[in-house]
Amino acid sequence: MSHAAHHLPATSALIDGRVVSRSAAAAVGLCKVYGKGETRVTALDEVSVEFGRGEFTAIMGPSGSGKSTLMHCMAGLDTVSSGSVRIGETQLSGLDDGALTKIRRDKLGFIFQAFNLLPTLTALENILLPLQLAGRTADQQWLDAVVASVGLADRLKHRPSQLSGGQQQRVACARALASRPEIIFADEPTGNLDSRSGSEVLSFLAASVRELGQTVVMVTHDPVAASYAGRVVFLADGRVVDEIHQPTAETVLARMKHFGTGTVS
Ligand code: ADP
Ligand code: MG
Repeated sequence: MSHAAHHLPATSALIDGRVVSRSAAAAVGLCKVYGKGETRVTALDEVSVEFGRGEFTAIMGPSGSGKSTLMHCMAGLDTVSSGSVRIGETQLSGLDDGALTKIRRDKLGFIFQAFNLLPTLTALENILLPLQLAGRTADQQWLDAVVASVGLADRLKHRPSQLSGGQQQRVACARALASRPEIIFADEPTGNLDSRSGSEVLSFLAASVRELGQTVVMVTHDPVAASYAGRVVFLADGRVVDEIHQPTAETVLARMKHFGTGTVS
């Protein structure tokens, strides 16, 4: 280890002579309060969490525990009340709307419960649209790998209405991957899918982590979905209360029961 590396925080690494964070994103002491007076709600209460590069993390917790708020604050879609959020090497606090928009466009990928594909575009056109809007030329090798891993080679010229729900969500996943973002945030990505389509989407997300080195953070209330991740972070009442590594559906379910507020559905 070089002399310089000795003085780095444990969360940083020296790569090619540059100090680089080991994690793709982190929140430190993150608080989010909505409303005031009688309607005041503390959605996030001193949340500190880090998401490792090339890791697949699931965020679980009862309804109202702050899962979506955490995702929105980390993605710069919502302001924080106190604490800090870092995406890659960039602290979000203090950035203006323009800079936040640029971060979201260049460093983040999003997958939501609703697929949000444009109905008049083909699958491939949907995948490429964000890059085109950003005026960026794609890394062709990366795009080829992403498109190949969607497993829709014969359907890339189809429109969303000609695809199943699971296929549409895989297209939405490929769209999130296309710009090779620092991190992908997915909020209940399988919430609208039957279990078979859901497992296709989850397998695809897991493969993007394993084979392409992508970093994925996924909110879910489904223990089976969470078992595709390498790590599960549990929220309750706006706080991180536990985490498990190498989860199985059984260990996740047991932990949810332990908190006594499981929203198994
Ligand atoms: P989850 O995604 O875990 O179900 P949320 O992050 O959506 O939870 O919500 C956490 C808490 O914050 C809840 O009590 C919710 O009612 C509250 N909340 C979320 N968004 C808002 C908002 N825009 N205005 C007021 N309260 C909100
Ligand atoms: Mg939510």
